[in-house]
Amino acid sequence: MSAPDVTDRERELVARALTGTSLSGGPLLRQFETQAAQIAGARHGIAVSSGTAGLHLAVRALEIGPGARVLTSAFSFVASVNCFLYEGAEPVFADIDPVTYGLDPASVEDALRHRRPISALLPVHVFGQPCDMTGLGALAAADDIPIIEDACEAIGAAHAGRPAGSFGALAVFAFYPNKQVTTGEGGVVVTNDEALAGVCRSLRNQGRGDGDDWFDHVRLGYNYRLGELSAALGVAQLERFDELLERRDRVAAEYSRRLARITGISLPAVDPGTTRMSWFVYVIALDRGIDRDAVVRDLAASDVPTRAYFRPIHLQPYFRERFGDLRGSLPVTEDVGSRTLALPFHSRLSSESIEYVANALERALERAP
Ligand SMILES: *Cc1c(COP(=O)(O)O)cnc(C)c1O
Repeated sequence: MSAPDVTDRERELVARALTGTSLSGGPLLRQFETQAAQIAGARHGIAVSSGTAGLHLAVRALEIGPGARVLTSAFSFVASVNCFLYEGAEPVFADIDPVTYGLDPASVEDALRHRRPISALLPVHVFGQPCDMTGLGALAAADDIPIIEDACEAIGAAHAGRPAGSFGALAVFAFYPNKQVTTGEGGVVVTNDEALAGVCRSLRNQGRGDGDDWFDHVRLGYNYRLGELSAALGVAQLERFDELLERRDRVAAEYSRRLARITGISLPAVDPGTTRMSWFVYVIALDRGIDRDAVVRDLAASDVPTRAYFRPIHLQPYFRERFGDLRGSLPVTEDVGSRTLALPFHSRLSSESIEYVANALERALERAP
């Protein structure tokens, strides 16, 4: 489905980190934080052990706790909801826009009017395309609600000329191996707010205080640190950031060119408000009525792996057990979630592979019930 893009430069920097004396909290960590913050045009970057850890810190930094209600999307990876379920807060789901697959401002406005109180807005930029942050930002500002941006899938993307990660009080990028940029495991919280940055730094490091006393703990914290070897990998990846995104642009464009003549599917659409895509995955939508499971099985038989995602969070078994049967509550989310299919996608996917996938997909669609 995916493959990391690692060159000799990454190997060189990781090897250099290994020859140093600080395998955690060394100079490459700080360099990586600076590079990541720059991508969002943010003043502070706090590197953490995963994107999930970063989202959890953002929630803790804003003191979102028991009883709080967070307005967010169910068309996402579970981490964007788990991060506040950990703290006893509850989700209020709004529906998504059928083009960006991100929160639809009209649905968010409706929730803000009729489902109060709301403590925070947590938009998720899925598949590398930002939400309509112009609309969402105006709504949150009008109600004085802080935004946490889940930009884990959208590093480098831009909405209306502004980078993903620059709209929220805090935003999070993630670096799992299938992401555009990887540190193996890792994430970065970015923010312009010095106080929030300080709290995130403390929380990631066992709640330590600002002073030199290593055994001074001023709050309940975690070990969410990112090691120096991972940071070294991240520094090399971000040195190559433009190249990494451009390679993915090339693969996405080639897919779109090749798949344009296939009937029964729609290709990923780019909203006019999206001034930069940061292709994370290449996700098509099957026409209504086509049996997706049959297409998946047929492609698997041709050795083409695919993923039918997202399966919306409100329909997940663990979620349903706790909050009950919410089927039918989010029509666009559920419709999109039932038809989307991610194709194999990474920066070095060859033209031959794209052609192979396209042919297999064409055949699978012809045969699908
Ligand atoms: C990848 C991702 C995360 C973070 O995942 P980790 O595996 O914890 O790094 C969070 N939200 C979304 C939408 C993601 O795709």
